[in-house]
Amino acid sequence: MRKWTGCGTTEDREAAERWWIRILRAVDDPECSVPRKVRVHAASCLAASQWEKRIVDDGDTWNVDCVSRAAFFANEAISYGFTSPSTLYVGAGIRRLLNTPRIPGVDYNRFDEFSFSFEAIAKRDEEVVEIASRREAKVSKAPNAYHCATPGCGIEATKKSGLLRCAGKCPAELKPSYCSKECQRAHWKDHRKVCNPDARAKEEQSRHPNHRPRTSNSPPTLSSENITDRRTKGKEHIIKWPAPALPGGKVKVTTNTCSPAFMKDVRDIATNEARTVVRRQAA
Ligand SMILES: [Zn+2]
Ligand SMILES: [Zn+2]
Repeated sequence: MRKWTGCGTTEDREAAERWWIRILRAVDDPECSVPRKVRVHAASCLAASQWEKRIVDDGDTWNVDCVSRAAFFANEAISYGFTSPSTLYVGAGIRRLLNTPRIPGVDYNRFDEFSFSFEAIAKRDEEVVEIASRREAKVSKAPNAYHCATPGCGIEATKKSGLLRCAGKCPAELKPSYCSKECQRAHWKDHRKVCNPDARAKEEQSRHPNHRPRTSNSPPTLSSENITDRRTKGKEHIIKWPAPALPGGKVKVTTNTCSPAFMKDVRDIATNEARTVVRRQAA
C-alpha cells in the first residue's frame, strides 16, 4: 500500500502491483505461508488498481483486459467473504457496464462467472435501502436534531449527538441544531426571535420607548463544544455534493474524522468541478 500511495517511500504503482500478485501466488508456495486475510486484501487492492487502469490515455477507450482482471480480483476477494469498498465499487462499475449499450466486438460472456461480485452488490443495495429507510423514520421524529439549521449549510448528522443543540430558552419543537459555532452565529439573527426572551423584550421596548430593558446580542452556548479546526472526535456527519456521472446526480459522504468546515470546503470544490464537467459536456 505504501508503494502504491508513496507514503513514506517513492511511489511505484507497478512495484505495488507486483507485490500484491506475489502475495496472491504465495498460496501455491508450500515454503511461504500468507494468512488468508492478507491474501484477500491483496486481491481487493489489485481489483482497485486494475479498475483504475481501465481507461486508456485518451479518456474514451476502455482497456477490457484491465476491466476483466479487476472483475476477477474483486470476485476473488468477495468469494473469500471480504467485501471491501473497492470490491463493491469495481463490481458496481462492471454491473453498470453490463447494463449500458454493448460495445461491438467485446466478449461480455467473460463477466458471467463473477457471480460473487454481483450477489454482494445486490445484497449491499438492499442494505443501503434499509439503512436509508431506518434513517428516514428516525429523522422524521425529530427533524431539527439531524440537520444543521443554518440555511445553505447542508451538514447532517447520523446521530443526534453529531450536532450541537442550542442551549437557549427556545421551545423544544423549534430548538435548532448546528454543525459549528459559526453556523450558530450565522443563524442567530433569525433564531434569536424565538430563543432569546431579551430579544422579545427589545421588540416590546420599541413599542414602549421609555422602558429600557437589557438585551443580549450573542447566541446562547451550545449543548457541547466538540468543534475543532479540521477534525472532529468521532462525531459522524453527512454532506451531499453534486456528482453528475452517478445515478441520482449526487454523492452522499459520511465522515467521522473531517470537520464540518473542511467538508463544506471539499463540497465547494466538488460543486465547482461538477459545474465545469457539465459545461464541458454541453460545449
Ligand atoms: Zn452548519
Ligand atoms: Zn435557541
